[in-house]
Amino acid sequence: MTENKKTTDALDYHAMGRPGKIEVIPTKPYRSQRDLSLAYSPGVAEPCLRIAENEEDAYKYTAKGNLVAVISNGTAVLGLGDIGAQAGKPVMEGKGLLFKIFADIDVFDLELNTKNIDEFVNTVKILEPTFGGINLEDIKAPECFEIETRLKAEMNIPVMHDDQHGTAIISSAALINACELQQKDISKVKIIINGAGAAAISCARLYLSVGATKENIVMLDRKGVIRADRADLEPIKAEFATTSTHLNTLDEAIKDADVFIGLSSANTFSPEMLLSMAPNPIVFAMANPDPEIAYDLAVNTRNDVIMATGRSDFPNQVNNVLGFPFIFRGALDVRARAINEEMKIAAVYAIAELVKKPVPESVTQAYNVKHLTFSKEYIIPKPMDPRLISTVSPAVAKAAIASGVARKVITDWDAYEEELNQ
Ligand code: NAP
Ligand code: MG
Repeated sequence: MTENKKTTDALDYHAMGRPGKIEVIPTKPYRSQRDLSLAYSPGVAEPCLRIAENEEDAYKYTAKGNLVAVISNGTAVLGLGDIGAQAGKPVMEGKGLLFKIFADIDVFDLELNTKNIDEFVNTVKILEPTFGGINLEDIKAPECFEIETRLKAEMNIPVMHDDQHGTAIISSAALINACELQQKDISKVKIIINGAGAAAISCARLYLSVGATKENIVMLDRKGVIRADRADLEPIKAEFATTSTHLNTLDEAIKDADVFIGLSSANTFSPEMLLSMAPNPIVFAMANPDPEIAYDLAVNTRNDVIMATGRSDFPNQVNNVLGFPFIFRGALDVRARAINEEMKIAAVYAIAELVKKPVPESVTQAYNVKHLTFSKEYIIPKPMDPRLISTVSPAVAKAAIASGVARKVITDWDAYEEELNQ
């Protein structure tokens, strides 16, 4: 397809019929006078009074419990950068569409016209009555860290910045499985992370939670290796500063490393660097749309590599859609107060384990392949795998209950899974 054709198709898709991708549809009868007097005045006063007496009844009488806000200020939209809140709206609507089709979660997308952290935080905070959860999206680093930390502390509903944690969760699952296939011990692997932004920092943090060790991680930004003796480090980067004082460049750091994690920019990882890695290397080149090293180039350079990218046209796509719909589904279903570390880790293992189970025909057909089995070309589930919801959501819900952030307890897990499968 030519670039022109792609552009026209994308613009036509968004403009056709009612512009945009999302609408609001009533869920109750509304055809008769009686219906309307229940939906609005005077009948509506009854649920209002119940909620006034007991706030949690909002989950019973309003859409709160199935409503997530996708909130952005447009400062780091896809790979497009700081294009502003208004220009980011198609992405936020798109995220709403994904939430709906993968997990039947309704979304209001909210584009906030501010780069001021206090203004952003205060605005989101006062939205708590409306939503069951908050998905922060496409907010640039380092502001995204403070915004999320403050909102998590100040709000009583789940808050998750998906660009940080979604990537961390999916790539952690991929890393666990890749280590198993390459017969490497995750606590011993030497990991080089190119990039020190929103995604890189939160990936590194979660890798530690699933068994990697800080001494074995070396992180780089545009200026090179993040070393403890660098004077220009923001506190968030300093968290992963290495004490090895002899390393300066990616060329030097990558030698004999087991794992390369790319969360930086296109074509920053060369075949020579790949060749200098340890036997059976793991390369997750996740820059979008073009990875740090192209999939074909990597596997043609070394046949012992396990390779993943963010792209849908190659095996092992690290795609956040494997996570966020199902993580929020599980969190909402137990009316969780937060999405905490325990819930994220539960999602990681649920996603990692799913790959080892026999893959239904609907999935192999959707991807036009004969079979899919746990192997170098299949280390994470496919986004269209219908089992994700009944695997990941219950795992997250159980972790929410066990870690004490659930307001509602599920006891009949078989019935819950069945409900999810409908
Ligand atoms: P970000 O917050 O802007 O961070 C980008 C980081 O990469 C910065 O630390 C930057 O260094 C560093 N960087 C850029 N070019 C570099 C280079 N040539 N060498 C070394 N470091 C370099 O962005 P982000 O949200 O973390 O995303 C980073 C990349 O990952 C993007 O390409 C994004 O599309 C991709 N991503 C992919 C997925 C996925 O699922 N596949 C998910 C999330 C993100 P400085 O700090 O010095 O500026
Ligand atoms: Mg995003």
